[in-house]
Amino acid sequence: MSEEKEKKIIKSIKVDLDKCHGCRACEVACAAFHSDPKYSIVNPARSRIRVYRNELDNVFLPVRAGAYTKAECEGRQTYVINEQEYGECNFCNAPCPSRDLFKEPDSGLPLRCDMCESDPPLEEPMCVKWCLADALIYEEREEEVEEEEEIKEDELELGLELMADKYGLDKLIETVVRMAESREA
Ligand code: SF4
Ligand code: SF4
Repeated sequence: MSEEKEKKIIKSIKVDLDKCHGCRACEVACAAFHSDPKYSIVNPARSRIRVYRNELDNVFLPVRAGAYTKAECEGRQTYVINEQEYGECNFCNAPCPSRDLFKEPDSGLPLRCDMCESDPPLEEPMCVKWCLADALIYEEREEEVEEEEEIKEDELELGLELMADKYGLDKLIETVVRMAESREA
């Protein structure tokens, strides 16, 4: 694998927990933006941001989906907020085999925040735009990162691996061959 690095604008979203009141508008905006065609369906189960909500203790915590991990954690951490204990999974951003969170409801494939990549680009991600409480703050900075192509190859491999786990390798190969044949026809 190439070690080459390139300069890139890194987009990030800062979360101001004091301002989040758990309205879930960010989930709705994300799900609508990622429906096909865009804005045609709103199903928060497809959202790449999920808000952990504990209304009794006034704890609301938006979490954006990160990379899939095969590892089911051992020795989990516990967080104490306002004297109430919370398990680590409540705030974790990884789709993983232990739970259905951040998985496409139909295929079971993992969802990942893509910062609302689109052409033309948005001025700011949808969840930020529709958080009227200003709890989500969009930021950009320049950094050296691995080349984009390598990251996409990793993601493709992971997607295929998961499809093979779910439907079986034979079925996956059969489908890919059929797709290739129909493209050639
Ligand atoms: S839209 Fe903003 S205030 Fe509402 S749940 Fe999401 S982050 Fe919190
Ligand atoms: S940045 Fe875009 S893709 Fe990521 S959680 Fe927000 S709305 Fe969803």
